[in-house]
Amino acid sequence: MRKPVIAGNWKMHTTASEAGLMALELKRLLAHVEGCEIVVSPPFTNLDEVHRHLKGSNLKLAGQNLYWRSTGAFTGEISGPMLKSVGCEYVLVGHSERRQHFGDTDATVNLRMKAALEHDLTPIFCFGETLQERNDSRTWEVLTRQVVQGLMGVPESIIPRIILAYEPVWAIGTGQTATTEQAQEAHAFLRELMSESYPRFVAQSCRILYGGSVKADNVDALMALPDVDGVLVGGASLDAASFARIVQYEPC
Ligand code: PEP
Repeated sequence: MRKPVIAGNWKMHTTASEAGLMALELKRLLAHVEGCEIVVSPPFTNLDEVHRHLKGSNLKLAGQNLYWRSTGAFTGEISGPMLKSVGCEYVLVGHSERRQHFGDTDATVNLRMKAALEHDLTPIFCFGETLQERNDSRTWEVLTRQVVQGLMGVPESIIPRIILAYEPVWAIGTGQTATTEQAQEAHAFLRELMSESYPRFVAQSCRILYGGSVKADNVDALMALPDVDGVLVGGASLDAASFARIVQYEPC
């Protein structure tokens, strides 16, 4: 049985005080929720504030990125031990906005992945095709390359710890969610891809999240899909009531 994960990516939104208020509100709204992992990913500057508010709650904390070295002369970077020190248990790796705007490649995503694992952070490994790649019928080729290269050198025994997040770039922040058919097709493809590289039980235990314009009004249908084990939510996670509704999805 794969435990669902509902994760909110706050991107570059919220000041420390706004993030603190959001954390308190989510903690209040979601205190009774069991049966799924709830993760929020505020900007680096707000992790400590959010951590203090969420201590002892059922909400977990993720960094939005990490550098692969632990310490050193790398101005502006954040390392795994730093994330751990402010209460992070998860970290996003390879988000499409990092790939698009900040030069992340499959090779650097792989380095970040290994750094996350080395520091006992659960990677939420993001990947997905662009609209151009989909229109060119290259979706499966792109997903295969991103997943295989992102996981390169990761021992098989560690794979079940990694959370995969399929996020078609054309669906992120656009309001254009993948249809349930598109999402299930991609997730089934990814599970099959995992079972080609690892034993079937590993592929079966791997959680695969969907991300891309998930909202309160489409989460129920997405969570009903057999290979969707959770969602990664951007915009809609910035409103406490809407994120709380997403966490309390009712698969239909
Ligand atoms: C994201 O940031 O990972 C994301 C999926 O954003 P949105 O929900 O806004 O499309």
